[in-house]
Amino acid sequence: MYLFLVLIAIGTTHALDIVSRDEWGARPPTNVVPQSNPVPYVVIHHSVEPEVCYTKEDCIQAMQTMQDMHQIDNGWADIGYSFAVGGDGNAYEGRGWSAEGAHAPGYNSRSIGICVIGNWMEAVPSEKQLQTVHELIEYGVELGMISGSYGLIGHREATETLCPGDLLFEEITTWPHFVQV
Ligand SMILES: [Zn+2]
Repeated sequence: MYLFLVLIAIGTTHALDIVSRDEWGARPPTNVVPQSNPVPYVVIHHSVEPEVCYTKEDCIQAMQTMQDMHQIDNGWADIGYSFAVGGDGNAYEGRGWSAEGAHAPGYNSRSIGICVIGNWMEAVPSEKQLQTVHELIEYGVELGMISGSYGLIGHREATETLCPGDLLFEEITTWPHFVQV
């Protein structure tokens, strides 16, 4: 019986905590375009601004700033990313798994866009922050939201941009699902 319960616990619990939109005080999107799951791609980004945050309080502030930039300044429906990951080791819900994003032309309707909060041109994210990115992707695969055979790309592969920064891009080229497109 004990073993049975342990097995259930392993099957149903996950270490990853995703901070919900409610929790970070997101405004509702002005429009939602559904995307179908599982998606075949994961696109990695950096934020440049806001800079890396190390506490939940600061990362919540960063999420609000990004939503303001995207929704108010750019006039988009919502924060552009599907999720963001802070230097505090938390994952933050953006548009989520099943809404079309606004982060990488050609991939918005068939990917999960993850912003690794910070500027990764001359620095690399901490192990803690990178670990959460890995866990978030694995969780998406477990949920059936991301294809088990997904391709991982950096934003710069989709369009002319320095995103996700030279050093983070170099890092993700070593990840197992990285693809050159
Ligand atoms: Zn980007």
